[in-house]
Amino acid sequence: MIRSTRSYVLRIEVLTPLTIGSGRERGMIKEVLRVPVMTSKGLKYLPVIPSSSLKGAFRSIGEMLGRSWAELLDEPEMKVMSSHRRNGGAVIHEVGESIVEELLSGLSQKEREILDRRFGSAGEKAAYFCPICRLFGAPGISAGVRFSDALPTKFTVQSITRTSIDRRRLKVMENRLFADEVVAPGSEFRAVMLAEVREGSLEEKLLEMIVRFASEVGIQLGGSKSVGRGSVRIEGLEISHGTTT
Ligand SMILES: [Zn+2]
Repeated sequence: MIRSTRSYVLRIEVLTPLTIGSGRERGMIKEVLRVPVMTSKGLKYLPVIPSSSLKGAFRSIGEMLGRSWAELLDEPEMKVMSSHRRNGGAVIHEVGESIVEELLSGLSQKEREILDRRFGSAGEKAAYFCPICRLFGAPGISAGVRFSDALPTKFTVQSITRTSIDRRRLKVMENRLFADEVVAPGSEFRAVMLAEVREGSLEEKLLEMIVRFASEVGIQLGGSKSVGRGSVRIEGLEISHGTTT
């Protein structure tokens, strides 16, 4: 089997205030998450987008795109992908055992033995064939894509006063004592994404769809998404593409 190894630089452009909280408060200000970075001007504490946030956002897009793509086609892998659901931390695939059997019959004896040792039910084995799970991982399946944390190449941090609505009097109350630190629009971050997938596979195509979506439509990161925070556009520049057998 030929494996395709790709690396990308992700250029992340912040479009609306980004809130990735540290869980700490300084006075009455909720701070953004920072990490110590050695720069030419000494040790600085810079805002960071953790790899887990990037992975979570890419996975959500992958689930949305993958499921709608799968509905158009009738192949057994597509049936598995269209049944992919996340339930809290768990991933489930509600797909008929006959479909899993059909997929298993395409494997070598050795691969089947490995799967039998690693997974119990047909439902668990289904994840092995799911392009979303091959990209982002599931119990017993290591993720095909990995992300670094994203560090800023330019940034501004601002405080936004928290407002709340007095529901009884239907009035907006501005509470000047409390504020959220945010990374302001116009800031830019960089991260690295490494992908190792089967050459020409559905998961490789799905990854290309996700990268295109993140650059053309954009995605949301961090907290307070419901009020429109954390819209970013991510340009994925492929910097290397090799194959291994
Ligand atoms: Zn899946």
